[in-house]
Amino acid sequence: MPNALPATAYRIAPRDLHAHLFEVSCTVESPAPDGQRFRLPTWIPGSYLIREFARHFVRVRAECGGRPVAIAKEAKDAWRAAPCAGPLTVTADVYAFDLSVRAAYLDHTRAYFNGTSVFLCPEGRESAPCRLEIVAPPGRPSWRVATTLPEDGAKRWGFGGYRAADYDELIDHPVEIADFSHVAFEAGGVTHDVVISGRHDADLARLAGDLARICRCQVELFDGPGARAPFDRYLFQVLALGEGYGGLEHRASTSLVCSRRDLPRAGVAKVGNDYRSFLGLASHEYFHAWNVKRIKPAAFTPYDLGRENHTRLLWAFEGFTSYYDDLVLARSGVVGAPGYLELLGRTITNVLRTPGRHVQSVADSSFDAWIKYYRQDENTPNSVVSYYAKGALVGLALDLVLRGAGSSLDELMRTLWRRFGRRGTGVPEDGIARIASELAGRDLADFFARYVEGTGDPPLDELLGSHGVAMRLRAADGPRDRGGTAGKGRDDGAPAVTLGAKVAASGEARLVHVFRGGAAERAGLAGGDVIVAIDGLRASADNVDALLARHAPGDRLTVHAFRRDELASFELVLDRAPEDTCYLAVAPEAPPEAVARRDAWLGATA
Ligand SMILES: [Zn+2]
Repeated sequence: MPNALPATAYRIAPRDLHAHLFEVSCTVESPAPDGQRFRLPTWIPGSYLIREFARHFVRVRAECGGRPVAIAKEAKDAWRAAPCAGPLTVTADVYAFDLSVRAAYLDHTRAYFNGTSVFLCPEGRESAPCRLEIVAPPGRPSWRVATTLPEDGAKRWGFGGYRAADYDELIDHPVEIADFSHVAFEAGGVTHDVVISGRHDADLARLAGDLARICRCQVELFDGPGARAPFDRYLFQVLALGEGYGGLEHRASTSLVCSRRDLPRAGVAKVGNDYRSFLGLASHEYFHAWNVKRIKPAAFTPYDLGRENHTRLLWAFEGFTSYYDDLVLARSGVVGAPGYLELLGRTITNVLRTPGRHVQSVADSSFDAWIKYYRQDENTPNSVVSYYAKGALVGLALDLVLRGAGSSLDELMRTLWRRFGRRGTGVPEDGIARIASELAGRDLADFFARYVEGTGDPPLDELLGSHGVAMRLRAADGPRDRGGTAGKGRDDGAPAVTLGAKVAASGEARLVHVFRGGAAERAGLAGGDVIVAIDGLRASADNVDALLARHAPGDRLTVHAFRRDELASFELVLDRAPEDTCYLAVAPEAPPEAVARRDAWLGATA
């Protein structure tokens, strides 16, 4: 059915590269008679924190028929223009200097924006079609435009006219404008483009080849071999920096920030740790094209961009996505089974080192994402569990439980896709648990009560064992030991000790986190304290571990530390390091039926 509302016309121009200002206008053909109201989102879907994008609107003015119209702020995120008859244009200067994938950026190297940061929504016109003109910056002839917004006059990669069916679509296609590198590949019958901005020396052909395998594997997972992807094209927008990591999902694209060392270098055949983490990030965001962009919680259909949108299901929408991002690397053959088991071992380690998993469930963590997971502080590990990391382990456990019952999490994802994603209806809060029980052929309410609504650890040891994978635990080798491998142990064979705190990676020995019930907490140390001496010897971030390694569990030490500018002395009794570091291995002695289950789970690579 054609959209009856007249189109809302947007125009965005990089106004001043050095002042980081876009000039953005929005024109409404026939404004509301009592004065047209405009709103700007307070958050961006996929990142669950109120960000108040309006704080970067530095000057807002309105005009009608060439004459200025009064416009006034009515709320933190809303403006109302005085009544006028003709087309009404509101123009804003928007400050854009946020390097993340969540907002907007402009300088002499590139321009980037999410619509949520720059495009006002005329109230009552949310469903009107949108037309957008993207204006080229002066003096930058090599800059091109990369976005999945459909062209409407513009040529592919060009400045000019674009369109969207409604406001929701307008803000779900971020735009990168730069002198970027480009490579393309085909997967699921559609073109996938990769553009990379920033300084880098990536092997583009290698990158395209590996991403193609990952994308094909995911299209097949949802719709079977030879199926077409559920979008007309897909775009990976990559920004390479010295240091950086992050991504945000959209319906036909993703914005990624990475360190340039994460990108593959020419002539290097192996998938190293850094490149593997980049591929995992790309795989994660691509999986979201189904899981959360099309299969959505009912709480997000539609989004209310003016306030928090609560759901208790992020452990499935983020956690299952985190489970599949690495699993797909193994199934597509980009990494082998040992590489995958190393990643899984690290995820288990991450969760085991979080005391907060005993006090918060992943369902509660999902609900409170807006005020807890997204607002981390020194106490976060003690009070919060990550719905990403533990959600991934719930996904793993559910997958293995379902496999034991002749189904799988793949089947659950396909069911969600058929019943909700394809139909455009939201998943109710109990929808996933109900489908899981249906697929298992028995009531899994107890599983969800324990591991999703409760704080229990899923029984991974037993479940992995029945799939031919041995799970082992050991003490951490040191502060950089993230788990996933067998480790070295202490070379003198003595038991490892722990301070019960996380120390900053470099510089002063600042305590980032003090863990619940640990040695540091019992001694009275707190997050933010700076340890300056242990047993009378000067301490820094670099040598804390070496100073502690000279001691045995139960030893009593005097620790000097600054809290703010006040020096204090603490008596600390060292603990034996807990066995909170996990590594997994293909079990050589596994019975044939366990090996068959492992092959079905990991693909042919095991
Ligand atoms: Zn995600």
